[in-house]
Amino acid sequence: MKTLTCVVIGAGYAGIHAVKEVRKWFKDQAGKYPLRLVLIDKNAFHLRKVLMFRPAVTNEEIRIPLTKLFPDGVELVQAIVSSIRAEEKKLMYVNPSGVEQEMNYDVLVVAAGSVIRQPDPEQGGIPLTSLENAQKIRSKWLRNLELAAAEIEPGERDRLLQIAIAGAGISGMETAAELAYYARKDAERLGLDPQAVKIDLYNANERLFPDGPAKVGLRLEHILRDIGITTLHNKRVIKEENGVLWLSDGERRPAGLCIWTLGLQPNPRISAIGVPVTSEGYVQVDDSYRVADMPGVYSIGDCARITDPVSGHVDGKTCKEAIPQAARLAKIILADLEGHQAPVHESYMNLFCIGLGPDKGLTWVNKWGLDFVITGKLSWKIKKYTWDTASMLTTT
Ligand SMILES: Cc1cc2nc3c(=O)[nH]c(=O)nc-3n(C[C@H](O)[C@H](O)[C@H](O)COP(=O)(O)OP(=O)(O)OC[C@H]3O[C@@H](n4cnc5c(N)ncnc54)[C@H](O)[C@@H]3O)c2cc1C
Repeated sequence: MKTLTCVVIGAGYAGIHAVKEVRKWFKDQAGKYPLRLVLIDKNAFHLRKVLMFRPAVTNEEIRIPLTKLFPDGVELVQAIVSSIRAEEKKLMYVNPSGVEQEMNYDVLVVAAGSVIRQPDPEQGGIPLTSLENAQKIRSKWLRNLELAAAEIEPGERDRLLQIAIAGAGISGMETAAELAYYARKDAERLGLDPQAVKIDLYNANERLFPDGPAKVGLRLEHILRDIGITTLHNKRVIKEENGVLWLSDGERRPAGLCIWTLGLQPNPRISAIGVPVTSEGYVQVDDSYRVADMPGVYSIGDCARITDPVSGHVDGKTCKEAIPQAARLAKIILADLEGHQAPVHESYMNLFCIGLGPDKGLTWVNKWGLDFVITGKLSWKIKKYTWDTASMLTTT
C-alpha cells in the first residue's frame, strides 16, 4: 500500500493545528492511507507570535521547540520552502546549510502565515516585528532607565522615561498595557518614580478598535487610561530621530523609546514559491481551501484569502480563524481522498479578546446582533486560555 505523504509548510498556529488535526483524522485510516506527516518551518520552533510583546517587557521565552509539540509521529524539517512544482507534486526547500533539496508530496498544506509590517529604517524607532527586535526594545528600555537614574537634568530624565507606541491596533494596545505594568516595575526597581514613566499610544484612526462598535473602543480607551496610558487619536508618527518624535500634524515630541506596531501584511515569500495569489498577495483558494490548478495543495491561516461562501465575509487574520480552518481542512483532505462531498468554509463568530496587562483584558462578542463585553480578570483568563490553546499548551 502506498504511503500518503502530507507536508505542512509553516509551524505557526495554522500549521501546528493542521498537523494535529490531520494526525487525528487519519489515525483510524492507517490501513487505507498509511501516513507520512512532514512539518517544514524555517525555524526549529513554533513562535508564539501573539505574545511578541512579552520579550519586549520581560525575559519570557516565546519559542516552543517543535520536538516538544510533536515528539513523535511527525517528521520535522527545518528549512525554507523555495518553490512548489505542482505538476510533479514536488517542493524545493533550502536547508540551514544553504543546500537545496526536494521532497515529493501527495497532499500539501501551505500555512506560511504573514509578516509584521515594518517602517522604513530611516523612520527610526524599533518595530516589534521579531523576537530579536522585541529583545532590542527591552535592552533599549533598560539602558534608558540606567541613564535616567543618573540624569540630573529633569527634562532629559522625563524624555528617557517617555515611551511612544506608534500603531494602536490590538497588538499596540496589548504592548502598551504590558509596558504600563512592567516598565513601571522596572523603574521602581531602579529607585525611579514609576509614575514618571509616560506611555503614549498613537492612533492614526479617530478611535480604537475599528473592528468593533465605538462604545467598545471607548471602553478600551478608558481601561488604558486607568492603567496610565494616554491614547492620541488622529495622530500618525512619521519618524523618530535623536529622541524626537515627528507627528503628521507637524508637532514634535520628545521620546526615549519609540516602538512601531503596524499590523500584519501578506508573507512576501508566498508568490515567490509559485502559488496563485490575489492582488493583495494572499493565496487564492476555493471554499474548501483548495489552491486552484494545484491538485492536492491547500492553504489556510494568515497567508490565504478565505471567504465565507454564504455571507461573502472574508476571514480575519487571527488564530481564532486559523485554528478552526485547520480542523476543517483535515476533514476536507480526507473527503477529497475518498471522493466525498467536502466541508466548506464557515466564518467564525465575531469575537475579539484583548489582553491588557496582568489580570486585565477585554472580550467582545457580537452574537444575534447583540454586543457582549467581559472585562477584568475573567477576560484575562479567557485570553490566557486562548493564547495557550493556540500554541497547543493545553489540551482541548
Ligand atoms: C503582535 C501580534 C499579536 C497578535 N495577537 C493575536 C491575538 O491575541 N489573538 C489572535 O487570534 N491573533 C493574534 N495575532 C495574529 C496571529 O498571530 C496570526 O493570525 C497567526 O499567527 C496566524 O497563524 P499562521 O499559522 O497562519 O501564520 P504564522 O503564525 O505567521 O506562521 C507562519 C509560519 O510559517 C513559517 N514560514 C513562512 N514562510 C516559510 C517558508 N517559505 N518555508 C518554511 N517556513 C515558512 C514561519 O516561520 C512561521 O512559523 C497577533 C499577531 C501579532 C503579530
